[in-house]
Amino acid sequence: MKDKESHSIRNGIIATVVGGILLSFWKPFKDIIVSVFSWSWGVIESIWLWLSSSHEIYGWLLLVLALMSIATCVQLLSLMFKKDQEGHLTLYKSDNLFGAKWHWQYNAGDISNLWCLCPSCNGELVYSDFIPNRYDYTHDNLEAKTDFICENCGATKCTLKGDKDYALSSVKREIRRKIRNNEWSNTQNN
Ligand SMILES: [Zn+2]
Repeated sequence: MKDKESHSIRNGIIATVVGGILLSFWKPFKDIIVSVFSWSWGVIESIWLWLSSSHEIYGWLLLVLALMSIATCVQLLSLMFKKDQEGHLTLYKSDNLFGAKWHWQYNAGDISNLWCLCPSCNGELVYSDFIPNRYDYTHDNLEAKTDFICENCGATKCTLKGDKDYALSSVKREIRRKIRNNEWSNTQNN
């Protein structure tokens, strides 16, 4: 009981001393807060005054600023709409087509650097095309074709109609068809 009393006395003394110290600092502290606040308010007021008052400005400068802001708005809007339409440019750059893993890039929206990898070992495939010789009777009824072969696996992974250029254009057509029909989003992780 005695102990408790002495504690409350001690706490009272501490509270008085701390309160006194705080009070002695309060006056200059308050002055600082008031002056900082009034200075900030003055700045805000003068900015608002400048913004709300009319200014002499060259007509051409006003026109340039207006055109720039219109152009920016148009650009922002077109970016928002393009984002969905051109998502394939960043996301769809490979696909498993006709038995091979095709990779490509886009150059000004066109498919470029198209080539294929082996789906089993990821090795680059080499091509071998066959174009029938019309003067050779053994080639009668044979069609032009291009094989894409994995030298690592020793197997033909993909066979397409026509010579190499025709074969690559077939793959490009298939890629463009998938983009048009929005089928690519299902295969982008393949
Ligand atoms: Zn292979």
